[in-house]
Amino acid sequence: MEKIKQLIDKLKNEHSLSLSEYESLLNGRTAEIQEYIAKEAEKVRISVYGRDVFIRGLIEISNRCKNNCFYCGIRKDNKNCDRYILLKEDIINCAKEGYNLGFRTFVLQGGEGVYKVNDICDTVKEIKEHFPNCAVTLSLGEMLKEDYIKLYEAGADRYLLRHETADEEHYKKLHPKELSFKNRMECLKNLKEIGYQVGCGFMVGSPYQTNKTLAKDLKFIENFSPDMCGIGPFIPQKDTPFKNFPAGDVNTTLYLLSVIRLIKPNILLPATTALGTIDEFGREKGILAGANVVMPNLSPVTVRKKYALYDNKICTGDESAQCRTCLEKRISKIGYRISVSKGDIKKQF
Ligand code: SF4
Repeated sequence: MEKIKQLIDKLKNEHSLSLSEYESLLNGRTAEIQEYIAKEAEKVRISVYGRDVFIRGLIEISNRCKNNCFYCGIRKDNKNCDRYILLKEDIINCAKEGYNLGFRTFVLQGGEGVYKVNDICDTVKEIKEHFPNCAVTLSLGEMLKEDYIKLYEAGADRYLLRHETADEEHYKKLHPKELSFKNRMECLKNLKEIGYQVGCGFMVGSPYQTNKTLAKDLKFIENFSPDMCGIGPFIPQKDTPFKNFPAGDVNTTLYLLSVIRLIKPNILLPATTALGTIDEFGREKGILAGANVVMPNLSPVTVRKKYALYDNKICTGDESAQCRTCLEKRISKIGYRISVSKGDIKKQF
């Protein structure tokens, strides 16, 4: 117990551990240790961001995808997925509604290889024309560097690309052979070089994940130093090859949120919808464990159920305004408040 607490204190002071120390930290988790690290992470998070929680308006622009990731409900081969593509006008209307609700960041998320890059550039430009004081985040998968550059020049500020796992062998077990670990890492490197605020991330409890592979994820986050990191529990989707694997666990996810907060005190760390799906109070627990971002859905209600990356996703029937009010109440109940701001990473703290 003392040894693990010492590791936590070392991480808090030095923001770095060796691979084997990260593994010991994961192996040594007990209820008491979990409580200890959550308190430390919360202190650090409050020292950087106070009690503000940043909100990002998530617009799921299409559930089409050219890929077949084994864990994903909108994978190309899922014949039960009812496909849709939002038009530019639909996306702009979602953003307008979001702006009126206090959102100052819009996240355009969708499968790979659906839209022409120039069309996304037009949409990004139009959002920035309407709302120059807002950030646009893209989460559209792997692309050529030149396309990432075009999107950046069109005005996109941030890009989320989960690395999924920092272990190459594990990566191969989660993805078909057309997708490569090297390319994923290359894309992340390119995004950073171009100047985006970059987010990586992974699922907790994904099939074949071990504390050894998780230790590599933590070391990767330490070295790559992303601006954002999205982690949420793996949740099986009934039409995927991983349908029979068990879901990831809430406490491991919360523990990892706390560890990541100590690795990088100013990181933007969402309490994800997946966390809120496997536990009714998952998002609140995530904030209390060190997270400082939530990403409510701004997609049209008519398409929400269709963007089923995993089963039983929450908030698929609610209007955006309902989601916003509900979150506000939930967050204030735990002593935090929603911030109406772009919510950029704090460089000085
Ligand atoms: S995880 Fe992303 S790239 Fe993979 S199938 Fe799903 S939407 Fe496509």
